[in-house]
Amino acid sequence: MQEPETIDVLTIGAGGGAYPAAFWLARRGRRVVMVDPKGVLSGNCLAEGCVPSKAVREMAHHLARHRRFHSYGVGGKTTVDYAKIIGHKDDVQRRRYLQHGEELARSRNVELIKGKAGFEDAHMVTVETDTGTRRYSAHHIIVASGSDVFVPPIPGAELCLTSSDFYRLNPTLKVLPSTLTVIGGGYIGVETASFYAALGVHVTLLQRGSQLLLGMDPDMIAMLVPLLDPNIRWILDADVDRIERMERGLRVHYRQGGGSQELLSDQVLMAAGRRPVIPDGLTALGIDVGHAGIVVNSALQTSHPHIYACGDVNGRVPLFHAAVRESLVAAHNIAAGDVPTDTMDFTTVPTTIFTLPAAAYVGMTRTAAAQNGMTFLEAGYEFSEDSRAQIYGETEGSLRLFFEPASLRLMGGWVVGIDADNLIGEIGLACANGLTAHQLAAFADQHPMASEGIGHAARSLLSAEW
Ligand code: ADP
Repeated sequence: MQEPETIDVLTIGAGGGAYPAAFWLARRGRRVVMVDPKGVLSGNCLAEGCVPSKAVREMAHHLARHRRFHSYGVGGKTTVDYAKIIGHKDDVQRRRYLQHGEELARSRNVELIKGKAGFEDAHMVTVETDTGTRRYSAHHIIVASGSDVFVPPIPGAELCLTSSDFYRLNPTLKVLPSTLTVIGGGYIGVETASFYAALGVHVTLLQRGSQLLLGMDPDMIAMLVPLLDPNIRWILDADVDRIERMERGLRVHYRQGGGSQELLSDQVLMAAGRRPVIPDGLTALGIDVGHAGIVVNSALQTSHPHIYACGDVNGRVPLFHAAVRESLVAAHNIAAGDVPTDTMDFTTVPTTIFTLPAAAYVGMTRTAAAQNGMTFLEAGYEFSEDSRAQIYGETEGSLRLFFEPASLRLMGGWVVGIDADNLIGEIGLACANGLTAHQLAAFADQHPMASEGIGHAARSLLSAEW
């Protein structure tokens, strides 16, 4: 067996939960090794997640906006050049890989090994590479192995595409289908249904329960769903039991209300959720792994204080930007000798469902407060009144802010409609920093932008003084 190399920090994975800490610690002189079977930085976000899916989304968004005001050719029909959309998506991914590669090449004390890491003991990590096995003895370890698509054990499930087949570099899906069935009404399924409907695809979405986007604020969902493309057919309470290949396309068999139903479409997207990827040997160390992922404290430590778990693998807030912040929290605590000096605020991470239009939320909403026995003050703003929404002719939707009644401190908010994805950043920052309705009311939000709605909503609570 090869002699182990002793290093300061090893990261399992090189995505958002890993590389911010790796670079931060390396800049401070720590010797860091990142391990990832992809052999590149940025994990699943860039490989098949947020970045490429939003490249497709924004092209679909352009098209939807463009269609309303322009017409070309005979009959004024705009055709979708899907090869160009995929080409653009691939270019964005390549460009970002190049950028990450250059950052890595410029950095001292940090190395990326293409391989799969597993635990031998609480400090010893084995890495299987194309050229053999390497062993590292690390003072600190960050587990950031992310999550992977969950494919349920349904006969024929292997015939379906996954989000990876839609969005990875040089994807499997190269030709726009005319019909698409989406299995799963979580955010990946609903977003993809929305993007492809905007590109002109006839989409049917099958959801097992009676609710889409389960776990998210019901008032926000109730506002969002009627605003989504009317060409999407939503079939709720549908239990898929089999998928079969037909001469043309795939047939999905499902049960609904005691009866058997079937649907034929060119392609089927399986979007039944994601599961944390737990490295080999981790559970043998006695580290707790729950249903959502590896159990951590707010310092991102597992039950072994020198082993951290950041990003999707801990299942707390499975979003890239949460992983980045968690990674830096772990780095700060490693630098402090595994003494928690920095902690993660899991409650104020903004989340966006990037449908067209988008819905976004942060903090605690009115419904969540009520479930916890609290009553919040609610302030609203309708985009029908908003100048930017009127300029775009996209006046559907609204913004809601929730305040603690005694202090008027902002506790949470949601937005459905224009710029929801951007607005939630400002609302989140205000929430995370404990700003009050008075402070929001006194800020000169830019005109003519939808963020004016934030100050407007806050002032509506204070009407006597403002
Ligand atoms: P996060 O944003 O939570 O860091 P990502 O899914 O973006 O998560 O990145 C996780 C990365 O971890 C992926 O690129 C994946 O290839 C990698 N990975 C998964 N299992 C292992 C393992 N056993 N060893 C090394 N890397 C791993």
